[in-house]
Amino acid sequence: MAEVRVNLEAHSYTIHIMSGGISHVGALMRRLPLGDKALIVTDENVCPLYAGTLTDSLTAAGFTVAMVTVKPGEGSKSLTTANAVFTEAISEGLDRKSPIIALGGGVVGDLAGFAAATYLRGVPFIQVPTTLLAQVDSSVGGKTAVNHELGKNLIGAFYQPNLVVIDPTALETLPERELKAGLAEVIKYGVIADQNFFADLAAAAAALLARDPAVLATVIGRCCELKAEIVAQDERESSLRMLLNFGHTVGHAVEAVGGYSEYNHGEGVAIGMHAAGLISKGMGVCKHEDVEILQQLLSRMGLPLKAPGYSPQALMSYLQRDKKMESGKINWVLMTGIGQVKITREVTDSAIKEALAQ
Ligand code: ADP
Ligand code: ZN
Repeated sequence: MAEVRVNLEAHSYTIHIMSGGISHVGALMRRLPLGDKALIVTDENVCPLYAGTLTDSLTAAGFTVAMVTVKPGEGSKSLTTANAVFTEAISEGLDRKSPIIALGGGVVGDLAGFAAATYLRGVPFIQVPTTLLAQVDSSVGGKTAVNHELGKNLIGAFYQPNLVVIDPTALETLPERELKAGLAEVIKYGVIADQNFFADLAAAAAALLARDPAVLATVIGRCCELKAEIVAQDERESSLRMLLNFGHTVGHAVEAVGGYSEYNHGEGVAIGMHAAGLISKGMGVCKHEDVEILQQLLSRMGLPLKAPGYSPQALMSYLQRDKKMESGKINWVLMTGIGQVKITREVTDSAIKEALAQ
């Protein structure tokens, strides 16, 4: 079992990475000053797999448990679904000390986190992420949100959890495509912050794809450490935290052009990291070999490098929208090598088009 401590200015919490961790959540929660009523938010896929174990662990630790089960998928990140969580919380009499527990992937984590941040102006929040993507990324760092008809993640809050419990054995049941999507974010950490970790990933690719729990636990632990370090220095994304957006600018455009159904987030990020690599090479910021090494690892993990049939123009039009949101210029995260990135606002449209056309 490994622990990563996240130390923020006004708040700190522990991420526990342990095989079989779901059955220890109740005991771990008992170390915190919490009330006796807990509300689990999960989805219809995860509920039959892991909600029983979690409920038993909570009951054994003396908690009374209520549960809201939402439909799987991005559609549940809505104010309507959040309202269903509030209704359950109110009717079950949850008070200021009652924790809301997210059991599921990023969708459930973002939704439950948003509900925890706003119900009674904030109640304790526990994350039990069950996708690799959520375990290495969305469950750490405190971004919570629901979507608006006009855009994703537009309504939300920075709200830190009080406890995160990561059970790598829960990944055994994860669909292959979701596992690979999580590996894209894992690769991202290597590129932005740790060359040795990147090399370790290349060596461990087969074990990761085979879901070896020990290898997964080590890799997840390192990702959480790296994210915790970055978030601790910039909780609200004013500077350093932007590094975590490597691959996400083009990635979001790819997801959007595909109507959020053709490519999932991790696949978008894989394509986006490749594009960011090509832009970096095109601008002379990194070496050709660095992009090749990135391409090799992405391919080895079964991730796409390109979105065939997506025209550079279509992708560029989504980048224009990002521009508006970021007051005129996009903060591009470019790679200067494996394990090193830099942020720049000076990327020309022609450099982007050229990379997207390759
Ligand atoms: P993400 O974590 O990638 O943001 P979601 O929350 O949408 O994504 O989860 C992706 C899909 O995987 C959903 O259909 C969800 O129900 C399912 N899922 C989550 N965790 C598991 C698991 N451990 N085993 C099987 N399916 C899971
Ligand atoms: Zn991401």
